[in-house]
Amino acid sequence: MMTTDKTNQRANDICSILSKEQTKDSLIDSFSSTMDLLSDGVLFLNLNWEFEYINQSAEKLLRHDREKLLGKQIWQEYPHLVKTLFYEAYHHAHLKNDVMEFDEYDPAFDSWFHVKAYPKKNGLLIIFQDITEKHVAMEVVEESYRTLFQKHPDAVCSIDLDGNFLALNTAFKTLFPTDEKLFLGSHYLEFIPDELKERVKNIFNYAKNGKPQTTELNFTKEFKRPFHLFLTALPIIVQSNIIGVYGILKDITAERDSLEKYLEVSQMNELILNSVEDGIVGFDGHQNVIMWNRAAEKMTGYKKEELNLDIVNRIFKEVNSPLWTTDSTNNDEHGLDEKIIRVSDVSIFRKDGQPIIIEYVMTPIAGINKVVGKVYTFRDITEKKKSDELLYQSEKLSAVGQLAAGIAHEIRNPLTSLKGFLQLIEMSGEGKKEYFEIMKSEFGRIEQILNELLVLSKPQSINKEVCSMNSLLDHIITLLNTQAIIKNIYIEKYEYTEQAKVYCTSSQIKQVFINFIKNAIEAMDSGKIIVNLWEENDFAIIEIIDEGCGIPESLLSKVGEPFFTTKEKGTGLGLMVSYQIIEDHGGDIQVCSKEGEGTRFTVKLPIYSKD
Ligand code: ADP
Ligand code: MG
Repeated sequence: MMTTDKTNQRANDICSILSKEQTKDSLIDSFSSTMDLLSDGVLFLNLNWEFEYINQSAEKLLRHDREKLLGKQIWQEYPHLVKTLFYEAYHHAHLKNDVMEFDEYDPAFDSWFHVKAYPKKNGLLIIFQDITEKHVAMEVVEESYRTLFQKHPDAVCSIDLDGNFLALNTAFKTLFPTDEKLFLGSHYLEFIPDELKERVKNIFNYAKNGKPQTTELNFTKEFKRPFHLFLTALPIIVQSNIIGVYGILKDITAERDSLEKYLEVSQMNELILNSVEDGIVGFDGHQNVIMWNRAAEKMTGYKKEELNLDIVNRIFKEVNSPLWTTDSTNNDEHGLDEKIIRVSDVSIFRKDGQPIIIEYVMTPIAGINKVVGKVYTFRDITEKKKSDELLYQSEKLSAVGQLAAGIAHEIRNPLTSLKGFLQLIEMSGEGKKEYFEIMKSEFGRIEQILNELLVLSKPQSINKEVCSMNSLLDHIITLLNTQAIIKNIYIEKYEYTEQAKVYCTSSQIKQVFINFIKNAIEAMDSGKIIVNLWEENDFAIIEIIDEGCGIPESLLSKVGEPFFTTKEKGTGLGLMVSYQIIEDHGGDIQVCSKEGEGTRFTVKLPIYSKD
């Protein structure tokens, strides 16, 4: 605490008045009442340490009647003060003629006092205040600063204006687990690597001049691992004076590391995203496109910058609601249980308006507790579709080709009989009714066979329609009977249902059953082929059972693989195409075969229902 000249002056005045024996009573009275107005305690001890004067505030602070105290010796009245700072300071003031000023705690009063003691010729003038409240407040502030310093999660050090360490907090000692003594009293620059010295010095000097600074320090050589610190330098200001600098160090190695890793990963992701052949588009919950890779650009002809809501809707108009929002109204629909969805045979539209057929996989992007976006991975299957069709077509054509011989033969028979009858009519000159009946039925048969052949060789229409399996099988059997009869094979059909309606591309389904029955015929020398049809659990079940050579168990797994054939003129594609067609129709094929006994193919197709 500083003693100002003013207080000194005041003390002198008080003393001179007190010491004037001859002062008039009235003067003393007015002096006393003035002194009693002071909030500071004022008392005067004579050279024997006896109370000679006590003002009203002092009376309160001393907790004694002043009348009783006057003339008493202080050390007798307050023996607990003997040998305390009060005692020592008063004696010192006396002996050395020094003004003493101090704060001290009096345990008897449980109070803190601020005391000024002025040595005078005839005694000691003491002016004092109770500063307990102020002291407690100061202590609280000091304690909270101490706690803030010590418990701060970042490493904090205080440095004096010359650059020497004054104090380090707990986090600092954890960050640099060397002996604390090594730091304390040492200059901070001793611990800074050469290449960083200039920068840290600048920062320190700025802070020293009242300007807080921050910087990032990357230590490379000094530690075995990368080590990144974020340094803040703040001036330490006490009573408007800068007395030092606080250095606050935050270890940001983990953040830096994860930032670097993040950049690395995202660069890699970008690379992968752009080098895959599949188009990738990602939407967030606010209808924004967050991913659009190069393949997507190439396929659609749109660059990412060109995309907007309108264009996205135009490209994906046939994809079921590609966009969605995460607003409150449909949040529930996009819970975390949102599934991955696979869809095939959908068109998207290029910038030039051309459709491309794609198959896509939609994957939800999972955030915390909810889906925050969707990613579509799509593949152009236009070419694949074309080659699939070519495959179907070639298999069909080869079936047609192989059938042609039998058909030609079969057509020749009715034609021969027709020719014969015509000759007879010619010869007899009159037409017999039964000849004409036979002729009509034979012509009908030729017509039917030719119709079926035409259906098969026509370019495939992929339009689906509701077909009756019953009549579809009838048609096929009519067509194939021509070949079967040549080999003495009889095709018997048993239907246990009227219609068995199936929603299908009929030319494809026909192709499937032609192949099964043809295979059955080819597996037999003579005998019976049974075709069964019934309905079960919303499925039409068709069985083709032959008494042919059967398929050895070792080859059973190969059946259906492309180009697997045991026939000299076989393509090995028939079953593969059949499996694919039935699968496309949501159905399923089972084989059961025993070598030397025969084979049974069971085909399941979903029954068409109006809803
Ligand atoms: P391909 O008839 O041109 O050989 P498929 O794919 O139709 O081609 O048939 C593949 C093979 O499966 C046939 O070569 C034959 O070995 C076997 N296979 C198919 N169906 C039967 C059947 N009903 N009986 C015996 N083997 C069969
Ligand atoms: Mg075949």
